[in-house]
Amino acid sequence: MPEFDNVDPDEINKFDHLSSKWWDPHGAFKPLHDLNPIRLNYIDSQAILSHKTVLDVGCGGGILSEAMALRGAEVTGIDLAEKSLQVAREHSKKTGVSIEYQCLSAERLSEQESESFDIITCLEMLEHVPDPEKTIQACAKLVKPDGHLFFSTLNKTLKSWLFAIIGAEYILKLLPKGTHDWHQFIPPHQLVNYCEKQSLTLCDMTGITYNPFTKQYQLNQQDLSVNYLIHTKKTGYPNQYDR
Ligand code: SAH
Repeated sequence: MPEFDNVDPDEINKFDHLSSKWWDPHGAFKPLHDLNPIRLNYIDSQAILSHKTVLDVGCGGGILSEAMALRGAEVTGIDLAEKSLQVAREHSKKTGVSIEYQCLSAERLSEQESESFDIITCLEMLEHVPDPEKTIQACAKLVKPDGHLFFSTLNKTLKSWLFAIIGAEYILKLLPKGTHDWHQFIPPHQLVNYCEKQSLTLCDMTGITYNPFTKQYQLNQQDLSVNYLIHTKKTGYPNQYDR
């Protein structure tokens, strides 16, 4: 793992340690499985996946990458957790979808190429990197002009601490303890600010709420207090990348 990558090795080890669980719908990644149809439909409705080139940054075991490929997108998934990528590769063969999985960071890929993808998804990943702004900058470089970028993360509120950490990790035990660090959560205005600094225009923002009684997630425009998802577009074309 190159030291200049924007990466926390403990985070990567954490995900590699859980790699055998990626496709267990009742295991450590159950919340991502439950969330997947909702976020997939959102992305598809905002950006139309069919026949688009998509980069899935921090793809893990490929839960979202596969679903997007099944909607007709040509997907590249990148992550730094090699064991998770191995699980992703094996699972895609079983599913019968063709996805290019690479052990790379967005920053590293952006040194090699630019303006390559119609759509970039970076979901539930920014709260695991030391400097989320750098990841967003790399994504902004990698997306084509007029391309779409989707970011999701956790808001930094008292409620997100209570729900995403105390509730999900300690009470409901939906996630292993230590999955999230509240200090790494990002308020929506900060995420939007990072995007705007890269000339990404906000198109839409929605909360994702979990009902512990029905055990279901849903999009909720009124409630951004815990999980939320934003859709941005590269509408300005600055030459900042050369600076
Ligand atoms: N995006 C997937 C997985 C989210 S879990 C989904 O929503 O289903 C977070 C993922 O980010 C893990 O697979 C972890 O290995 C990866 N990750 C953490 N830091 C990273 C980095 N610097 N570069 C690439 N991937 C990273």
